[in-house]
Amino acid sequence: MINLLDLDREAITTLIADKPYRGNQVFQWLYQKRIDDIARMSNLPKELRERIASQAVIAYPSVARHQVASDTTEKFAYRLADGQIIESVLIPEEDHWTICISSQVGCAMGCRFCCTAQLGFRRNLTPGEILAQVFMPMRRYPERLFRNIVVMGMGEPLLNYANVVQAVRILSDEQGPDISTRRITISTCGIIPRLGSLWGDTRAGLAVSLNAAMDAKRTALMPINAKYPLPQLIQALRDYPLPPRRRITIEYVLLGGVNDGPADAKALVKILHGVRCKVNLIPFNPWPGAPFTAPEPEAVLAFQAYLKARDFSVLIRRERGRDIQAACGQLAGGASDGMG
Ligand code: SAH
Repeated sequence: MINLLDLDREAITTLIADKPYRGNQVFQWLYQKRIDDIARMSNLPKELRERIASQAVIAYPSVARHQVASDTTEKFAYRLADGQIIESVLIPEEDHWTICISSQVGCAMGCRFCCTAQLGFRRNLTPGEILAQVFMPMRRYPERLFRNIVVMGMGEPLLNYANVVQAVRILSDEQGPDISTRRITISTCGIIPRLGSLWGDTRAGLAVSLNAAMDAKRTALMPINAKYPLPQLIQALRDYPLPPRRRITIEYVLLGGVNDGPADAKALVKILHGVRCKVNLIPFNPWPGAPFTAPEPEAVLAFQAYLKARDFSVLIRRERGRDIQAACGQLAGGASDGMG
């Protein structure tokens, strides 16, 4: 059975073998009325509904677990059709919410500081499984303003390229969810060959997890750096075809005593020369058994001050949902607490 959530509007029109406006109607039921039952598409002839239902379903995952942190961050663990578990996080901002979604079950990148890496790679998510993480919360909390979507959960989105691109195409379709690509950010550890086409294929924002500004140090923290080394990555960011008012987000996890010193800040300033960016500093969020500790608060402030004094815009990412293991790098599909 086909999951309608995996298909863009064109593919739905092809599937139902009817006029384009019928495809638009199906799309509106899926993404504006957000139904999960083909029989309820009441402006479609009954015979057409039956024909669609004979080939396809609208399959959402089930909620395996829902937790609310003391700071009101929410974490959802979803059980997929094959029993695999993924996690997504709802992050409260002043007047809106950000949804942080996963792109893979587990991750193959093996970053030493990331809890998801401990799971290893299990499989790619389908477009529908990626999208469902956006629409489940929207259906559950219709009164909330969900504004930003960040693909910063479990997995490396650029290693599930086609499905992530398809999900962004559906999310931004004006006949459907109509979410502006300005509100969607894709975060990568730096899969250089994909950076050449990402902007053209998505128009989404780009975040890059840099985490070290010295090549050998980065390889020690992020094994993928041996394959896609820092100098080439930075060159790819310089070449990234950003329109005038947009910037790349550089993410930098600060690990106590490892990459949070003055020499690291200096190297970062040097390497980011010519990259149109803003920097997000993420103090390390510990997880059970992690071989790192959080940086001293003074080190974080000094690191930020050094960059600021050199005209970078730098934010320290406030840690969210740490008491429910929902902060950056803590998602592990429940594997860390015996679920999943
Ligand atoms: N694979 C993609 C998407 C995951 S984003 C990427 O690497 O960008 C997850 C972000 O959280 C990355 O910026 C990563 O560097 C950061 N991170 C991972 N583990 C962390 C931890 N324990 N504490 C703080 N940040 C962490």
